[in-house]
Amino acid sequence: MMVKLQSSFLLLGVNIKINLEIPYSLDWDTGYLIINKENRKILLLKKSNKRMTTSFSRYLMSVHLKRYLNKHEHVDHIDNDKTNDVIENLQILTQKENNIKESKKRGKTVVELICPICENIFFRRKGLTNLVASKKSQIICCSKICSFELKKQNYTIEERNIILNSNVIKIHFITE
Ligand SMILES: [Zn+2]
Repeated sequence: MMVKLQSSFLLLGVNIKINLEIPYSLDWDTGYLIINKENRKILLLKKSNKRMTTSFSRYLMSVHLKRYLNKHEHVDHIDNDKTNDVIENLQILTQKENNIKESKKRGKTVVELICPICENIFFRRKGLTNLVASKKSQIICCSKICSFELKKQNYTIEERNIILNSNVIKIHFITE
């Protein structure tokens, strides 16, 4: 059975002294584990009057590899639970790989629109709406038939702008 360390740490309090391992033990005397507000584990390192903090996940990965990580190496939680600091759940990602993972987690943007011709409510990907620069002044209709009708309307510039500005009703973010 895998027990998350987190719960026992919370029971013991917020400051747990740990025995530092290589490479940290070479440069620091003591390390204290602190649980922050987001329930994440932070390691406070001390040597005489010097102090530094690092995430516990970063510390674990460094100890695992027996070397310090460079600033381009990002320690990722495979299951996306940033409180689940066990080595099996950690992997090194480059900044680019991490950005891709983060954007996948953030999910897709779906836009809710109203058709100016038939007043139907419909949904489109953000890239197909006037929220992107390439379609900035384009009124989006629900169907080809309505788009065709739209072209036949002789709107004034003002009317056109009003329709354009009320075309988008709401932006939805959908995550996995
Ligand atoms: Zn329509």
